[in-house]
Amino acid sequence: MTEPNEEMSEVSRLRFDCPHCGSYMKVRTSKTHHPEYRTLYLHCTNEFGCGYRVKSELTLIETLAPSYHPNPAVNIQLSPWLKRHAKLEDEGQIRLILDARKEAKK
Ligand SMILES: [Zn+2]
Repeated sequence: MTEPNEEMSEVSRLRFDCPHCGSYMKVRTSKTHHPEYRTLYLHCTNEFGCGYRVKSELTLIETLAPSYHPNPAVNIQLSPWLKRHAKLEDEGQIRLILDARKEAKK
C-alpha cells in the first residue's frame, strides 16, 4: 500500500475549496447514477462575494480493504498492495483475512 501523504491523512471529510476565491464549497445536491459513481453540485459559500457553482464527479476507483458485506454488483479493482497480498495468501506464504474478497468473487 502506498503511504498516505500528509494532505490525505488530514482529510477527515470531503472538502473542496473554491478555485476562484478559496472559500469553502458546499455540496448542494448530488445524483447517484451507479453505486460507484456520483455527480455533485458544489456552491461557493462566499455566495455574494464570489457565487461560483460547479458540477463535479466522485468515482470510487480502488479497493483498499474489502467489505465484510460485499455487493456482488460492485466490482472496484483492488489496490496494488491488496493484489500483492492476496497473491501471497493464495500461494500460502501469508495469511490475511480476505474472506469477504473471496466471497465477492463467487
Ligand atoms: Zn468562491
